[in-house]
Amino acid sequence: MNLKSKVGKFSRDKSVLAGYSRWGKVLTGGRDTDRFAILSDRLQQTVSAALECRGLSEEQSYLLAEATYAELPSLCQAASILRDQGRGRVISFSPKVFIPLTQLCRDFCGYCAFRRSPAQAEPLYLSLEEVLAVARAGQRLGCSEALFTLGERPELRYPEAKKWLQQHGYQTTLEYLRAACELVLNETTLLPHANPGTLSRREMSSLKDVNVSMGLMLENISPRLAAPGGPHQHAPSKRPRVRHLTIELAGELRIPFTTGLLIGIGETRAERVKSLLAIRELHRRYGHIQEVIIQNFRAKPDTPMSAVPEPTLEELLWTIAAARLILGPEVNLQAPPNLSAGDYPLYLGAGINDWGGISPLTIDYVNPEAPWPQITELRCRTEELGFTLKARLPVYPEYIIEERDYLPARLLKRVRPLADSAGYLKGGMERYASASR
Ligand code: SF4
Repeated sequence: MNLKSKVGKFSRDKSVLAGYSRWGKVLTGGRDTDRFAILSDRLQQTVSAALECRGLSEEQSYLLAEATYAELPSLCQAASILRDQGRGRVISFSPKVFIPLTQLCRDFCGYCAFRRSPAQAEPLYLSLEEVLAVARAGQRLGCSEALFTLGERPELRYPEAKKWLQQHGYQTTLEYLRAACELVLNETTLLPHANPGTLSRREMSSLKDVNVSMGLMLENISPRLAAPGGPHQHAPSKRPRVRHLTIELAGELRIPFTTGLLIGIGETRAERVKSLLAIRELHRRYGHIQEVIIQNFRAKPDTPMSAVPEPTLEELLWTIAAARLILGPEVNLQAPPNLSAGDYPLYLGAGINDWGGISPLTIDYVNPEAPWPQITELRCRTEELGFTLKARLPVYPEYIIEERDYLPARLLKRVRPLADSAGYLKGGMERYASASR
């Protein structure tokens, strides 16, 4: 194939991209028609295979790990072209409220600033009244997603958690989560999307009835990260085998599912490729991976990894581009815009097609130091690069329009009136004309 014929759109964006840090200049430097000439012969073949949608072999996928920083702009451009082929120039986001049902957790991850011990947590759990108040406030601001994020099975470690649950009529945190999701579903127009950690088949089946989609970051498939001294040494739920099993269960139960990689926690590029291949394999088997997130580690004060260097922008862009090339043109690929200061528009040049959840109301409790951009700013930054920003529901359009056996009838009945004919959030960007923090 003639790779030079594929560069048209990119050149239109370059004057705007050039404004973003030194990387903007690198992404737009050189003559467009020379873009792929800089790649080694083997990488040129890999890029050709990706752009012809042949699906990269494992060997070709691992070759991407050898790309130099000089070759990175070309990989990004190929990934961007592939995104255009599969998803067009629409970039989506999910207007949400973040509901931290409990920050208690039985695990200890080396980078986590979300978890609290009972002595630190006030309250131990949000009450149902508090959950409903946040959801209703989000509804007034045009949100459609109630994102439930919580620690993993805290009642297994803390008697205080067990006691709180029993006093409120629940045996487990997951039972309480189900009740909270049900309440939001019954009392508001918001649609729940829960990230409760690893789950058994019975637990996941029970949550499927009250969640339009669910999520669990694979983070990385390498068991090495759970070795002594690794970030997951004291986090049994982060064993790749149990996380892989949970994602597989979601496929068997036909739950639209969000997963992804956390990068910069001690893994190698090859381990990221292996993780992407594992996600690709699960999606090929079940078709349920609605979205893949590439999230960069941010060092937090008062955590064991507070002094660990954060991944560079180059590594983040490489991972986004590799994900697009390995996962293909159709996958929904997301990188959070609040974790790279002002450089997030560069992600568009590496192949993403989604900004993830953006809240006009609540903070990012996992990264409280990193505010989300305002929706109006996000729209501006997205449109100046030649894209259209669209609000979506927490379940992606294809699982509403094309895939009829994912959502239970009760949820489909709730989702359909909220979606436009293309499966995006009805009302478009006009819903946020007055949204502010
Ligand atoms: S990252 Fe998740 S599992 Fe790990 S300690 Fe924090 S809340 Fe618990």
